[in-house]
Amino acid sequence: MSSTHGKIVILASPSGGGKSTMAKKLLNDFDRLKFSVSATTRPPREGEVNGRDYYFMSEKEFQKRVLDQQFLEWEKFYNGTMYGTLKAHVESELKKGYFIMLDVDVLGALNVKKIFGEDALTIFIKPPSMDILEQRLRNRGTESEKSLSVRLERAEKEIKYADKFDLVVVNDKMETAYSEIKKAVRKFISNQ
Ligand code: ADP
Ligand code: 5GP
Repeated sequence: MSSTHGKIVILASPSGGGKSTMAKKLLNDFDRLKFSVSATTRPPREGEVNGRDYYFMSEKEFQKRVLDQQFLEWEKFYNGTMYGTLKAHVESELKKGYFIMLDVDVLGALNVKKIFGEDALTIFIKPPSMDILEQRLRNRGTESEKSLSVRLERAEKEIKYADKFDLVVVNDKMETAYSEIKKAVRKFISNQ
């Protein structure tokens, strides 16, 4: 996959860490940044739109795309739910000269970094503590008890990868965390 036409900003964190929140702010502030819409086999949450938030698809369709090598990276987690970044989507936006932003899990982020190297900026958004992460996930109101405990268990493991990222931002006060992220993204984009 060629990356000669652009760069990739990768936001990663445990679920509930604040990726979607920061991603929305960045998309608002940087016209040249486009969101990479991932594919997933999980059902849409209330308010989520197919093609905007995710490409929602059946397991059968997802697996067919895996066999066709349509994913830049993909993973199976949370009780077998699959998530993946579609090569075609990323490639077409990069060709148009846009910067792409990925909202992926920690391992997905590191896999994409291996492919793009210096052309990717990896940002780890770290929750201030596990208790606060749990509170935020609960307040978001999107997860069942089962899904919550799976996500928290996974979060403990994911946080251990933080030092492999280009930048680690503790998401305590939202505006402080965002201004750190914004500064790094501005620098990365202007260094093209
Ligand atoms: P992710 O996309 O990583 O799963 P979200 O962006 O959905 O995480 O954030 C999880 C929840 O925490 C959301 O309800 C969001 O509004 C809230 N949140 C994010 N950052 C902060 C913050 N700094 N302070 C308080 N609440 C936050
Ligand atoms: P959610 O179900 O909360 O939308 O996402 C669960 C997790 O899947 C999050 O950590 C999110 O970043 C991750 N995720 C979303 N899309 C992708 C993707 O394309 N690839 C990978 N590896 N993870 C993804």
